[in-house]
Amino acid sequence: MQDILLKGGRIIDPATNRDEVSDLLISNGIIISFGLDLKPAKGVKVINCDGKIVVPGLLDIHTHSRIPGQTDKEDVSTFTKAAIAGGFTRVVCMANTMPVIDSPEHFKISSFIKNRGLMNMLEVFQVSALTKNLDGRELVDLAGMKKVGIIAASDDGKAIQDPNILIAALKKCKELKLPVLIHAQDNIIPVYDSGSEYYYIFMVLKAAEKIGCPIHIQHVSCIESVKLIKIFKVRGLNVTCETCPHYFSLTKKDFERIGANAKMNPPLRSEKDREAIVEHLVNGTIDVIATDHAPHTVKEKKLPLIDAPFGVIGLETAIAVSFTWLKNILTVPQIIAKMTVNPAKILNMQEPTLKIGMHADITVIDLAKRKKVIPEKFYSKARNCPWAGKILQGWPIMTIKNGIIQMRNGKLLIDKSKPPTS
Ligand SMILES: [Zn+2]
Repeated sequence: MQDILLKGGRIIDPATNRDEVSDLLISNGIIISFGLDLKPAKGVKVINCDGKIVVPGLLDIHTHSRIPGQTDKEDVSTFTKAAIAGGFTRVVCMANTMPVIDSPEHFKISSFIKNRGLMNMLEVFQVSALTKNLDGRELVDLAGMKKVGIIAASDDGKAIQDPNILIAALKKCKELKLPVLIHAQDNIIPVYDSGSEYYYIFMVLKAAEKIGCPIHIQHVSCIESVKLIKIFKVRGLNVTCETCPHYFSLTKKDFERIGANAKMNPPLRSEKDREAIVEHLVNGTIDVIATDHAPHTVKEKKLPLIDAPFGVIGLETAIAVSFTWLKNILTVPQIIAKMTVNPAKILNMQEPTLKIGMHADITVIDLAKRKKVIPEKFYSKARNCPWAGKILQGWPIMTIKNGIIQMRNGKLLIDKSKPPTS
């Protein structure tokens, strides 16, 4: 394994509050030293990071790999490449695959990266369903799922409608110390009414407060949701939440213009909602930026709007959309924290950090780089991207996993001995 010297980058490590220009030396896949003007030994690959930021490898708490069962939308190869190209070194996959990840047997087929020995390229973590087949009726054997290696539980894509089942699920997750991730949707109210989201959030937060269990709300999209979450946070509930790049960069006006490629659940809301999302990213109510990467085929997205499936892709644009819309509003370390240390804490995972002795999982970002979004050039199999044609600024230019460069300047340099075949 080649040693690497990243020269002169701005090192930003939210876990340790480090923010300074420094060289960073990687040897045998491990971060071994920092300092100004480190002199490389013979054979060390020197990479000039002047003017770039060097951050811990990004973690996406919310993706849909479509594996197993829906390889027409995304497959092992395209999913892995899209994540690496986007600057991610760890991703968390939801359970709404075919079959649903609701049993240890189904979990085993979903462990596609581990099964192929590709952990040196991308770490993929799996979430278990809360209820069998996501139908909201019968709880999954969560203790059994925890034993085989799932890291959290969620019925994402759907929401448990029966309060008794929801309470039983929260109690079980508390007992097992299993993070629970909530897709908030009350089915009595149409999803296009934001009441569907915040009404459900209110019910969940009241239940979590009574039970005393930590709770994470997925993809918040409207002003009432963030205000509610803030109230419960202030009064001491261990509640965290995420939003997605589309909710702080787009509104329903964009949906009217773009159509199916901007159709997702929850849907795009008003400008007032978008502003509230930004404000609550700044004040810390929203802890995490997640992609909710949801690939679909071109054919499916060409269906009449009412029939086209919900979801947009996001792995390859998350950094650029975040920096384009949030620069000068959030600090760079604040943005990076929401894509590294904050989601790791929620999932009780090892913190992504740039400390001496750690495995070198690193993303290098060029905040000055401007590039047009051309979905046809994505590594993802899907093209359902609402930012197509936009020029965005601030792109990942290098992804390093365990000390191996996987992506440089948008080109993948994947370990050729282990290509990620589908
Ligand atoms: Zn969801």
